[in-house]
Order: sequence, then C-alpha cells, then structure tokens
Amino acid sequence: MNTDQQAGIPANRILITGASRGIGAYIAEGLANSSRTLILVARKASHLDPVASACETAGADVCILGCDLSKRESIAQMIKVVLSDGAPDMIVNCAGVSGQEVAPWESDPDQWWQTQLVNLRAPYLIQRWLVPTMLERGGGRILDLSSGAAVTDFETSSDYWTSKTALFRLGSSMHVAGFERGLRVLEMAPGVVQTDMTRHMKMHEGRTQWTDPEDVVAIASAFADGKLDGLSGAFVRAGVDSLGSLIEKSIAGIGGDERRLRVTPWAK
Ligand code: NAP
Repeated sequence: MNTDQQAGIPANRILITGASRGIGAYIAEGLANSSRTLILVARKASHLDPVASACETAGADVCILGCDLSKRESIAQMIKVVLSDGAPDMIVNCAGVSGQEVAPWESDPDQWWQTQLVNLRAPYLIQRWLVPTMLERGGGRILDLSSGAAVTDFETSSDYWTSKTALFRLGSSMHVAGFERGLRVLEMAPGVVQTDMTRHMKMHEGRTQWTDPEDVVAIASAFADGKLDGLSGAFVRAGVDSLGSLIEKSIAGIGGDERRLRVTPWAK
C-alpha cells in the first residue's frame, strides 16, 4: 500500500467471492458505488445476476465470474480473467460451506476435505496468484469471512472449525509477511446472520436472535474505505464490536498480541 492508501484511500477494484447470496451478497451491495468496480464470484455467473443488477443500480461497474472454488483449475481460469483487467486492490474471501454436524470420527472424509478446498485452499490460491501483483502496485486489502469457529472449541463440524482456524492463520501469515509492503488483512467474524447456510444448521434450530447484516456490511465498508487499516492482523466481530470502537482502535493502533490466535499462559 503506498502512502496515499495508508492515509485511507478507498479500495476501488474489489473481488468478492460468494457474492451470489447471503453475506457475500450483502457485502457486494454495501460496497457498490460509482467509484468502484466489483468482481463478483460464485459457482455460476447466472447466480450473480440479481446482485450484479443491484450493484449496477448503485453505480458500480460489475464483472461476474462463474468459478467452482473447490477446483484449482477453475480458480486459475478465474484469476487469469481478473488479471487481464489488472489486479484488484481488495479481496473479500466470503464463499464458504458449512461443516458436517457430527463428531469428527463420524464425518465423511471426502466431504471433510471438500470443506478445506472451498474454505481454505480457495482463499490461499486466490491470494497466492493475486497478492504478488497487488504488492507490485503498492499493496491492498484482504478481508476474510472468519467465524467464532476459528477461536472456539466445538464437538461437531470439525471440518468447518478446522478450515476457519487455518484461514485465520493464513490471514496472520499474510499480515506479517505483507504489512511492510502495504498489505492489510482483517479477519471478520460476522456473528450469526440468517442465510442459507445458517438456516440449514442444526446448531441454529429455533434461534430467534440474529446479527443484523448491516453490522457486517458496516465493518466491510469501513475496511474497504481505509478506516480500519490499523487493525491489520486482528480479529473483529460484527454485532459485538461497535464500528466506532473499531475505528478508534484503528487510529490509536493495537498491540502486537491483541486479537491474534496465539498461545496464552496456563491459568493459575
Ligand atoms: P451462504 O448463504 O451459504 O452463501 C455461500 C456463498 O458461497 C454463496 O454465494 C455460494 O455461491 C458460495 N459458494 C459455496 N461453494 C462455492 C464453490 N464451490 N465455489 C464458488 N462459490 C461457492 O453462506 P453465508 O452464511 O453467507 O456465509 C458466507 C461466509 O461467512 C462463509 O465463509 C461462512 O463460513 C462465513 N460465516 C457465516 C456466518 C453466518 O452467520 N451466516 C457465521 C460465521 C461465518 P453459489 O452457491 O451461488 O455458488
């Protein structure tokens, strides 16, 4: 990120995976404005048509790309198309699949690995192939849709819990390796937003309290606008962390150990 961007220059070319529905759709529509080009990704380009129309109505230029993020070759093709128009200055890793709600030893091994392909390998490959060009241009931003699953223990869905913990670690590696060259990375847990994913999860059956998607969009927008760059490498939680407190912390600067996934001392 060049000095202009450190001063909070908004990202204007943003790749968003999982933009066809749920949180990715909310974020795409929330980031859409006339200064931006949004590159929206889901398995089929046609899934993205309604969100693309809404983003265009808000003034954004939109490119829709079908890509099966569980397949390396499909990601490679998608990246080729993206780079043909220049690297994005922000990546939102939102596409994801939920886990198998059974004990780890009861899970289907192929499905367990499929979760890693979509939730972890896809963000890795996207970054592996886009970040070098972003760095050549002075840096950029990466927003990972993390989860409480990255930082808690749980008895089922070990595939999902594992993928989100590893995504967090990938994000921290990106932050540590890329910060000096202008990369800013934020891990955002979106709370519990009512989407296709959560509607089908046993653990949310009967839930009446949901996170307002606006809280998620507010953090994503502030990060895209350069207002949360001081939190790079940290974990934030929509619906729990107020936007005002995050902006204050970003300006004040955070300590090296704050909100990192780290070994903590034994309890006395
Ligand atoms: P969702 O409603 O199920 O949407 C999932 C998105 O991912 C869709 O756009 C889907 O697109 C895309 N996707 C899934 N598999 C794909 C594949 N193989 N290739 C390309 N795209 C694929 O999920 P959500 O609830 O919005 O969750 C979004 C992200 O937030 C996920 O990473 C999830 O882990 C995280 N998260 C959500 C919650 C929550 O409360 N909802 C909580 C914590 C974390 P197509 O089906 O059109 O391909």
